Amino acid sequence: MSCPQKSTGRQAHSCVEYSPFDLARGVLSMKKAPDLPTLVLNKHWTPVHVTAVRHALALVFTDRAHVVCPETFTPYTFAGWVDRGILNGTPHIRGINFEIEAPEVIVLGSYDKVPPRGVTFNRRNLHRRDEDTCQYCGARFAPERLTIDHVLPVSRGGKTKWENCVLACHRCNGRKADLTPKEARMKLLKHPIEPSWSPRYATYIRNNRPESWEKFIPRKQLEAVSF
Ligand SMILES: [Zn+2]
Repeated sequence: MSCPQKSTGRQAHSCVEYSPFDLARGVLSMKKAPDLPTLVLNKHWTPVHVTAVRHALALVFTDRAHVVCPETFTPYTFAGWVDRGILNGTPHIRGINFEIEAPEVIVLGSYDKVPPRGVTFNRRNLHRRDEDTCQYCGARFAPERLTIDHVLPVSRGGKTKWENCVLACHRCNGRKADLTPKEARMKLLKHPIEPSWSPRYATYIRNNRPESWEKFIPRKQLEAVSF
């Protein structure tokens, strides 16, 4: 099944032959690719990552992934995606002798090497996950007015990791001291977990994601992204 031709018309490129050399040069010339995100699905079509469109195309070009047409779910090779043409007005990337539509979604092949890791635990990412909000009183603060609280205190074996650290204001942190939330009779806003998305893209996914992503990301996961 091929992608439907829209009324605005695709500029077909089907008569053009691309040698691997042409394509390689094309990929190399993509340094000016727009800074758009591409959703990455693993081989089971589960969303696992968001990457820059240029990296996504490099994965497709090297045959480690296929572009997914969000309308028909058809997977395309690099050459196939180029041949498909460009819908007028859609973001695209200009190679040396061809143009290619910026893919919104790609699916990994058997390599499945992306993403390589979880989200790094550090202060900046913790502030993003907890949205500069004290996880006990729920008030928002300027970043410098928040501290990192160990839910199970360090003095009692608590580890410095996503599942045991939350942002807390000075007042709440002082009140909790070396107690567990239960002992201090304080309730956490939410159970701390490791974010499943790179915080770099979290805001994007929440506020500006392409509509097509919603077909691939379960609603529950979309909501969970708001860290
Ligand atoms: Zn507080």
